[in-house]
Amino acid sequence: RVKDFGRDGFCKFSQDLAEAVDERLALETALRQALRENQLQVHYQPVIDLAQGRMVAVEALARWRHAERGEIAPCSFIRLAEETKLILPLGGWMARTAIGQFRLWRERGMELDYVSINTSGIELFDPGFVDGLFEALDEHGLEGRHLQIELTENVLMQDYEACRRVLLRLRQQGVRIAIDDFGTGYSSLAYLKQLPIDMLKIDRSFIKDVPGDPGDCAIVETIIAMAHRLGLATVAEGVETEEQEDYLLAIGCERLQGYRYARPLDPVSLERLHADSVRQAAPDSASSAVRV
Ligand code: C2E
Ligand code: MG
Ligand code: MG
Ligand code: MG
Repeated sequence: RVKDFGRDGFCKFSQDLAEAVDERLALETALRQALRENQLQVHYQPVIDLAQGRMVAVEALARWRHAERGEIAPCSFIRLAEETKLILPLGGWMARTAIGQFRLWRERGMELDYVSINTSGIELFDPGFVDGLFEALDEHGLEGRHLQIELTENVLMQDYEACRRVLLRLRQQGVRIAIDDFGTGYSSLAYLKQLPIDMLKIDRSFIKDVPGDPGDCAIVETIIAMAHRLGLATVAEGVETEEQEDYLLAIGCERLQGYRYARPLDPVSLERLHADSVRQAAPDSASSAVRV
């Protein structure tokens, strides 16, 4: 009986595995098709500068609405795209779309300093990556400083020398470089002084419970102090409440991003939000509070 049980267990296991493989293949096929048929979208989340009290930048985030399955979360399809190398066409499309949109916004008089894109290791180490970005910027008459790339710590650790070469090329043209989800990755701190990095984005998991959690406060304050000593700017990710904002302002975090200001928005909604905030911030209206 024990044996039977074992066999059943194995059958159940291999059945689950087969289903998972089918499911994955179906999703991969669907993603391939979505890319081919241009079914992905880019949403943009504002980055707020506290000193200027305005939206200074936007982060581009991929969105995929599947005809039958509905909205599929980036964390699942980005990972799939990385595993299948579909991240190369996906990332290229994201970058070109975001850069084109940024140019349009600037032509319409929106004052934004840069657009930020998320970059996977597979893209960063692809030989055509840097030229692809430069071509897209060129095509739209933009400069390197109008673009930021976001990397995670793990990417830096994959191949440090290759990473350094790519980042130096980007930096030569003024492209900004940010470390995303800072504090959650597997890395050494030495790279912070050796690589051309401009900005640390403090992961949402550390921001969630400030100012109530002393441990998180210690971590966030230490990251900010270290960043400033190294001449790096900081962005707090996932700011949702006024208490978090007051605290981050008090400890000198210069930029904030989160649902408190806006969720990632489609381009039309983002432009409307920007227009409203400019109107609100007009000199005759009482201002000082942070607005998007
Ligand atoms: P990320 O780059 O760290 O982006 C921030 C994520 O936090 C976004 O999730 C955003 O919607 C969410 N978020 C922002 N503010 C708040 C907040 O106040 N509260 C909460 N709870 N969440 C907030 P999203 O759009 O689901 O993206 C998840 C991750 O997927 C991104 O994390 C990024 O790592 C990856 N990703 C998204 N688009 C791309 C892409 O085009 N290329 C690559 N390589 N990765 C991407
Ligand atoms: Mg990001
Ligand atoms: Mg992040
Ligand atoms: Mg992330």
